Amino acid sequence: MKYLILLLIGLLSCQPATNDTTHEIIVIGGGLMGSASAWQLSKQANQVILFEKQDSIYTHGSSFGEARIARSNNRNNDIWSYMHNTSVNENIALIDFLNENENNSHSIEDIYTTSPVSYVGKSQIHDKLYASLIRQKVDFKIANSKSEGKILFDVNLPEDVLLQKEYNKHSGLINPHAQITKLHQAISKKGNQVKYNHKVLSIEKKEDFYHLTTLDSKTKKQRSYQAKKIVCAAGPYTSELLQDIAPYFKKLVNPQRVFLAFLRINPESYHSFTEVEKEKLNKAYPVINSSTGTKDGSFFSMIEYFDQDGAPVIKIGGHFQRSDIEDLETVWKIPLNEKEIKWSMDGTLRYMDLLNLPILREDLELVDQYSCVYSLTDSEIPIVSYRVDDELKIDSNFVVLAGLSGVGAKGAMTYGMMAANLINKAVEKDSMYKVSIEAMGINRLLSDIKDLKK
Ligand SMILES: Cc1cc2nc3c(=O)[nH]c(=O)nc-3n(C[C@H](O)[C@H](O)[C@H](O)COP(=O)(O)OP(=O)(O)OC[C@H]3O[C@@H](n4cnc5c(N)ncnc54)[C@H](O)[C@@H]3O)c2cc1C
Repeated sequence: MKYLILLLIGLLSCQPATNDTTHEIIVIGGGLMGSASAWQLSKQANQVILFEKQDSIYTHGSSFGEARIARSNNRNNDIWSYMHNTSVNENIALIDFLNENENNSHSIEDIYTTSPVSYVGKSQIHDKLYASLIRQKVDFKIANSKSEGKILFDVNLPEDVLLQKEYNKHSGLINPHAQITKLHQAISKKGNQVKYNHKVLSIEKKEDFYHLTTLDSKTKKQRSYQAKKIVCAAGPYTSELLQDIAPYFKKLVNPQRVFLAFLRINPESYHSFTEVEKEKLNKAYPVINSSTGTKDGSFFSMIEYFDQDGAPVIKIGGHFQRSDIEDLETVWKIPLNEKEIKWSMDGTLRYMDLLNLPILREDLELVDQYSCVYSLTDSEIPIVSYRVDDELKIDSNFVVLAGLSGVGAKGAMTYGMMAANLINKAVEKDSMYKVSIEAMGINRLLSDIKDLKK
């Protein structure tokens, strides 16, 4: 009998610790999208709990890092302008909220760190670009010939290449780390919770509730939670997490590896620059450079930081340099190959040439590198939509943000607002809001799923 009792105790202690607590809304994923959603829900007076599998110090994920390009103009699709401009306004409101009774210690410049932002492209796009700049009321300058380049920006524009700068307030760089930190502070200030080291292992729907099991990576304990509503923003892990309740995401969203090289300009060379040259370099970043007119030649680049010798460390990557992933757990550690390093050096030197700055290959040193991941849909337009079940029935208590691609950061606050509105069945008056919901919401998802079945 004694042995039987001991065996029973032993068996019970192997069971996952279950401790069902009930919540109004659970948000999964504390990257930019989940954090912005949890904040917008908090702002709309919802009770929210946010689960993030990483610690409070974020070490990987699509939102990892301190710099992304944020700009209002985008010649082909006004949605991106709406996403960015609305995010700027939402961030101003966020800062005001954080500063309430707090000595104004928060500043919008903690989030939007530099201005202006440059775009280099082929002259043939000039008319379309110009029309869009006017349409979107961008504060800009544009040089579309060698002589205009010299006069306006003192640069050496190659034949058939234009340089456009956007001066809108808060266009330039956005800092995802600062954005996430402030969002988590604001969520807590509203009385809601951010739970780090909580990995969601499973999601099940039983009657009116979603049952979640989480694993605490510190205590190794499993716990169960239930909630009436869910927002899922697990970035590249979304399809895996939703495989039982929304298996179509595996086909609709494709995680891709994107590499980043960090190139330091030799301090001696940099310090031999005149003050005017230093200023020119500073103002030349961040940049999206598509001057070759090819996908392979296109890159984004920015000064990530100045090192202890005062030398700039330039980050460069390419949205079209992406590749398929074999293993999501290990991809983050894949080093750059020779070809990728050469591509990064070549692109940076090509831009230095355009800027007319005396930098040679031997002045550039690779000081850091890493692989990152973002998820893409076929159209490269994200999905912010209700989940649908096997019979294509809409589940309006479950919102998914997926496929945020290389444009998510600048619009994070707006994607979060859309997710919160979907949960609360609210809408915005702005006509572009409707356009965005149409492009990313339930009708789009249903149409994508139908296309899969063809
Ligand atoms: C190299 C690169 C350059 C980019 N450049 C730009 C740019 O210039 N401009 C721009 O606007 N955008 C840019 N982006 C895009 C932007 O950064 C992404 O769209 C955005 O960060 C996506 O955020 P996310 O919240 O969807 O994903 P993530 O940041 O990946 O967030 C998902 C979170 O969910 C957590 N998670 C996953 N599974 C679970 C689970 N089971 N339980 C609990 N938590 C879980 C993860 O740990 C992670 O924190 C770039 C992205 C990359 C990678």
